[in-house]
Amino acid sequence: MRLRSPRLLSRRGFCTCCAVAAGVTSNGRWPKPAEAYAEASNIVDLIRDSAATMPLQLHKLRGDITVIEGSGGNIAVLTGADGKLFVDAGITATRPRILDAVNSLSRDPIKHLINTHWHFDHTDGNQWLNEQGAAILAHENTHKHLLSAQTVDDWDFKFPSPPLAAVPTEVFSSEKTVSINRATLNLKYYGRAHTDSDISVTFSEADIFHCGDTYWNGFYPFIDYSTGGNIDGMIKAAEANIAAVGSNTIVIPGHNLPGHASAVSNKAELMVFRDMLVAIREKVATLRRQGRSLDETIAAKPTTAFDAEWGQFLITPDLFTKLVYEGV
Ligand SMILES: [Zn+2]
Repeated sequence: MRLRSPRLLSRRGFCTCCAVAAGVTSNGRWPKPAEAYAEASNIVDLIRDSAATMPLQLHKLRGDITVIEGSGGNIAVLTGADGKLFVDAGITATRPRILDAVNSLSRDPIKHLINTHWHFDHTDGNQWLNEQGAAILAHENTHKHLLSAQTVDDWDFKFPSPPLAAVPTEVFSSEKTVSINRATLNLKYYGRAHTDSDISVTFSEADIFHCGDTYWNGFYPFIDYSTGGNIDGMIKAAEANIAAVGSNTIVIPGHNLPGHASAVSNKAELMVFRDMLVAIREKVATLRRQGRSLDETIAAKPTTAFDAEWGQFLITPDLFTKLVYEGV
């Protein structure tokens, strides 16, 4: 299947979570591992190079919290006298423009960083933020994955071991509450979902919920089986997200269609996302139970009803079918 949407931006403009979308070659077949590797290595370099020139977008929310969009995953920034707190670190190449952006919010020094999970497009900036003065808090599996090289099989790509400054300085296993800048942050581990290291971050007083890559608004999500993700965990996380938010909660997805207002989402949209995951999982599971191979399952087009809304950007319907098939 070809990537066919007018909304499809250049691969150069997006994050590694989505880089796998390039896994379908221009003639519409699955690439051999070597081809995928070449594609992915290009993309990792392209992300670093191109992120340096991509425009960042700031969305001021409430309670001194702002979202920065355009540096890999969506970054939330809380300002205040205890120092700025970041949720996710983005791509290192955007460092000067992230600094310009957050300096425009306040002059508070950067003191705190929370990673929603280990993936490159959420932790690449860990090193510079740590050198800037940020302590890094994350789930223990993020710590584990950032201590050594990581291979993501669906990209056939190996990420080298990051420098020590990028490694979280504090970890937790299940839940943690943090009080900073007169805000109460509740951190909660999902279990296996997009990876085995995903957490949500709730800003209680402001009623803002960052759910990392358990939620991509507007297109099919990547699922990283190599480091513990799976479709059933994604569905469980989607249910947990719905249960965690109210009708006034501002929801920050890990990713959204670039430049779209969907950098800020809500409970109703979380429910639409959950329903999509559940419906496609059931269709793919039925096909697999009937003994269909991966290629036969893709040929049966189990995502058709959802492709117009979800399959127009980066993760193609064929690739998403494969990611679901792997887990049912
Ligand atoms: Zn991710």
